[in-house]
Amino acid sequence: MKSIKKLFLLLIIVGLVSAAAFYFRDTNPPQVTLTPGSGPLTDKTPLLLTLDDPSMGLKTLEVTLLQGSDRIPLLKRDFPAQTPTAEEELNLAGLKLQQGAFQVEVIATDQSPYHFGKGNTASALYTFNYDTRAPLISILSKAHNVNRGGSGLVIFSLNEEVSEAGVRFADRFFPAYLQDSGNYACLFAYPYDSKESDFVPRVVARDLAGNERQAGIYYHTNGKNFRQRQINISDNFLNQKIPEFEVLAPGISDPLETFLYVNREVRAANRAKLVELSQRTSPTPLWEGAFLRQPQAATLAQFADDRTYYYNGKEIDRTFHLGQDLASVAQAEIIAENSGEVIFAEYLGIYGQCVVIDHGLGLQSLYAHMSQLAVQPGDMVTRGQVIGRSGATGMAGGDHLHLGVIVSGVPVQPIEWWDASWLDNNIDSKLENR
Ligand SMILES: [Zn+2]
Repeated sequence: MKSIKKLFLLLIIVGLVSAAAFYFRDTNPPQVTLTPGSGPLTDKTPLLLTLDDPSMGLKTLEVTLLQGSDRIPLLKRDFPAQTPTAEEELNLAGLKLQQGAFQVEVIATDQSPYHFGKGNTASALYTFNYDTRAPLISILSKAHNVNRGGSGLVIFSLNEEVSEAGVRFADRFFPAYLQDSGNYACLFAYPYDSKESDFVPRVVARDLAGNERQAGIYYHTNGKNFRQRQINISDNFLNQKIPEFEVLAPGISDPLETFLYVNREVRAANRAKLVELSQRTSPTPLWEGAFLRQPQAATLAQFADDRTYYYNGKEIDRTFHLGQDLASVAQAEIIAENSGEVIFAEYLGIYGQCVVIDHGLGLQSLYAHMSQLAVQPGDMVTRGQVIGRSGATGMAGGDHLHLGVIVSGVPVQPIEWWDASWLDNNIDSKLENR
């Protein structure tokens, strides 16, 4: 009799313990994640809701949009048993929301018997800003005269904060930079290799919600044809130059093949590096007045010379020469053409030892083939300061300076920047009112 009682008691205890274990097995509410979870959005922004309840599984979901006194049901779900995870896309299209703040309320429960069978409840509230209005663009600068291969500047204002603004045409984009006044300044180029029909520059601005607007600008282009040049590659040149490049062309032993590899692959990689460097720029102009052409230097080659290379009378390659070649005496002192920050000072393939100076707004100058460098990245230099000596490092047949001017990664005509009246009319006078 005693032992039956004991057994009975034991059974009750076991029953209670297992019931408690079942009841308390899952006391965690489902995990709710909404992406994005805050900030500005439009009726087209995808909103992704994910729910996780790995132990007992999801049971119900209710999503409601709250704006002012409105409560708009967005979604209601009853999940079948054993649904550990779910993904739902929320769609705001067609809801006729007011511009401005609204909330998304998410309430989800799980299959747990906890809370007397109601399960665990997750409740989350997310705040967003509804914005379907594209930024308004006011163009403040007037005439925009641009030469093929040359530069231009546009000043504009916007009525709201943006994630991106600048000048766009075809597949090119030139970023604008916000100035202290609240206006934007954008240096852009009519690239030497753009077709006139492709060059239709427009100001574009995209706000934080993703709404985008374009604005046309008044512009006038001057098509310019560039010079054709023949470059004869001699065995003498190859014997003199190729050893420097052998480390850059592993596995190639033929000197002419090495030259072609460097002129194509290494040149492209070096250009990509200059495009990458162009993003490291001051948002405000650092230059002061016209750029200084290197003193007493003769011009050896011009910007955008269309070069065809010959070897033993046979055409082997073609490139555009994207700078101005200047030479005076060997190992001549090289000066910074204008004030700015040195952002690169080392060996770079075809450019040899070179210096890149940032002048702000995406404008940079490149000094290539140097024998000595007198500056380091991070140095602030002033217009006319000596930055090193000329040389023949990289793809150079003799001692000279290859001077490049670059606008947001696109090589442009240096001679414009040397021309005080061009600079005043097209750039500096516009910047005064920025
Ligand atoms: Zn050159």
